Amino acid sequence: MILFDNSYARLPERFFANQQPTPVSAPSLVRLNEPLARDLGLDRAWLRSPEGVAMLAGNTLPDSAEPLAQAYAGHQFGGFVPQLGDGRAILLGELKDREGKRRDLQLKGSGRTPFSRGGDGRATLGSVVREYLVSEAMFGLKIPTTRALAAISTGERVPRQEFHPGGVFTRVASSHIRVGTFQYFFAQSDLDGIKTLADFVIERHYPDAANAANPCLALLESVASSQAALIAKWLQVGFIHGVMNTDNMTVSGETIDFGPCAFMDIFHPEKVFSSIDSHGRYAWGNQPNIGYWNLERLGETLAPFIAEDIATAKEQIDTVLENYLADFKKAHFEGFSAKLGIPQDKADDGQFTTLTLQLLARREIDFTLFFRHLTRVAEGETKSDLLAGVGKTSVEDLDDWLITWEKITGGASKERSERMRAHNPIIIPRNHRVEEAIAAAEKGEFEPFKRFTEALTDPFSEDSALDPYEVAPSPEEVVCATFCGT
Ligand code: AMP
Ligand code: MG
Repeated sequence: MILFDNSYARLPERFFANQQPTPVSAPSLVRLNEPLARDLGLDRAWLRSPEGVAMLAGNTLPDSAEPLAQAYAGHQFGGFVPQLGDGRAILLGELKDREGKRRDLQLKGSGRTPFSRGGDGRATLGSVVREYLVSEAMFGLKIPTTRALAAISTGERVPRQEFHPGGVFTRVASSHIRVGTFQYFFAQSDLDGIKTLADFVIERHYPDAANAANPCLALLESVASSQAALIAKWLQVGFIHGVMNTDNMTVSGETIDFGPCAFMDIFHPEKVFSSIDSHGRYAWGNQPNIGYWNLERLGETLAPFIAEDIATAKEQIDTVLENYLADFKKAHFEGFSAKLGIPQDKADDGQFTTLTLQLLARREIDFTLFFRHLTRVAEGETKSDLLAGVGKTSVEDLDDWLITWEKITGGASKERSERMRAHNPIIIPRNHRVEEAIAAAEKGEFEPFKRFTEALTDPFSEDSALDPYEVAPSPEEVVCATFCGT
């Protein structure tokens, strides 16, 4: 049994639509995240029972659930859509986890809602497997993220370009409130709505802001600082979110909505994976700028509560945005300094990071393998081992680079290698592996999905049994585009 306590359902009616999930014909549990279930204080045996699976599929809900679809708006690729909302997701309710933190339990793919527009409210099992793998990989990498509690196969087929097996995903988040949730009320000039939402977010995520001289300004500062830290972390693992629309950016600072996202193999700052991102709006290196742009949109909605006079509000918002950029840069260069093994007190000011990334791009080097094998060099292996590790026979400018690196990092030391080990993951959810797990799952084979999920739980550990997951794709295996989370 589950006892939900639903604070979002207690907000004014216009914040959401009450909506029961639409039952599915033959639900079966594909995967349950046992450690997460335990952290949430949930009974794992119950979750696996027919009653638990019925809840995870949206077929029958506990009495304490108050299922609803949240309303939100958003800028999609820069164009504003005044009403989006949960078109295929339903919030079942909220739980307190074992640390007393409030967490949302949401089903994704559980049927149509008043926000579905032309969509069917369903998810393919493939998209469920992708979100499960990538969100849990994020968690393993110690990056704030929504979590995967369960994957269900519905026994139904959903029409996309072709028919695909259907799935339902159970997402756990510290909340599902997005920049676009604020924009929804702003677009309707609903100032009461914005203020109510701001108070709710402050209480839930940033309680210190309540005591600030200017709570809404403090709220914006808090969101900006969470996003600066988050985006810096994405960049350090080569993650490209793919669709950083304002409706896909949380105010909590957790990564959300894993659609056409990817971890890149060969490094290039302009890399995109989304087949619809033809202008590189959401490219790896543009993500901090898009974070800025999205925060500017959030600032607009809060401006009326920041100062009475719009010019004053704008000035204060601009200061927050400048600080966001400064915070991001600091986190970015500190993060890359750690990856490179530069001592904390001598963190790179950006020059050497830039030089390094230019080398990787110019010589088409695999991002993750480079840092992984550089860590081995720090532990005594040779330049030729590094080259073999990244699949190259020669990189002309590597000698000079290595000399500078030795100098900057102060030569071999235990601290250097430990720092590098802790910041350079060995296993990331490489696209070709994700696609392989999805293709198998679509045929009803869940072993690859299971094994890969397990491998991703400890991405920093050296375990030769997991070597296959480390390897970069062969030219035939390279995935150039990933698809929207349909
Ligand atoms: P996303 O691209 O998943 O972030 O979704 C953007 C918007 O489209 C959100 O409002 C979703 O709820 C909605 N949406 C996406 N897929 C579907 C679907 N299959 N049925 C209904 N709405 C959908
Ligand atoms: Mg979305």
